[in-house]
Amino acid sequence: MIGTEPARAVIELLDARKTYRTGDIEFEALRGIDLRVDEGEYLAIMGPSGSGKSTLMNILGCLDVLTSGAYRLDGDDVAELSETALAQVRNRRIGFVFQQFHLLPSLTSLRNVELPLVYAGVGKEERRDRAIAALTRVGLGDRLSNRPSELSGGQQQRVAVARALVGDPTMILADEPTGNLDSKSTDDVLGLFDELNDAGRTIVLITHELEVAERAGRIAFVRDGLIAEKEVAA
Ligand code: ADP
Ligand code: MG
Repeated sequence: MIGTEPARAVIELLDARKTYRTGDIEFEALRGIDLRVDEGEYLAIMGPSGSGKSTLMNILGCLDVLTSGAYRLDGDDVAELSETALAQVRNRRIGFVFQQFHLLPSLTSLRNVELPLVYAGVGKEERRDRAIAALTRVGLGDRLSNRPSELSGGQQQRVAVARALVGDPTMILADEPTGNLDSKSTDDVLGLFDELNDAGRTIVLITHELEVAERAGRIAFVRDGLIAEKEVAA
């Protein structure tokens, strides 16, 4: 198209392979995956149990490294980053959302959402302002001082989404984010992802539910450590 910028790759996996070694036994969990996700895309990753989804998620989230092949995140070859640089990437460029929410039970919503900014060294007032803005964004501006136990599952997951967003990451990486939610809360959280993606946010979501995956623009099916893709009809 004339006048539009070329798409910028957020994720590039090139012949990505991951071998686990247990004693003398080797198992190749990822067997040569090529995957590109551009800025602003919404990709769902589906696959049966044992297919390699969590392995792939750990690689994409810089929680684990490839045995061979390459992973470029925002153009940076992850294999060349130091441990310190990797920790910064995890904190600043990736917003994680997990099935189990992973909120700290003793902290209020506000404090939970401020936490990534504490690690990033953001000052107190800015932290508070940004956390309030993120919680307002997910519809919880009136739940700032509630602890997780005082919130429904759907509300807790929305706090987790606010926490993922607050650092303005390059992408949101969500592993079965609706796996513990009832259908109403699932709708709320997926609606939130739709809004975030409409606003240009890059999202990668792992799920085993086709209904959830179909909210994304593309679905990548993982099977036996290999990937096959399909566009989702609009
Ligand atoms: P999924 O998330 O799709 O269920 P995983 O990525 O967890 O799949 O696992 C893919 C394959 O790799 C499975 O056969 C699993 O047994 C194996 N695997 C996963 N983690 C390890 C590990 N730390 N050591 C050895 N094998 C592993
Ligand atoms: Mg898994």
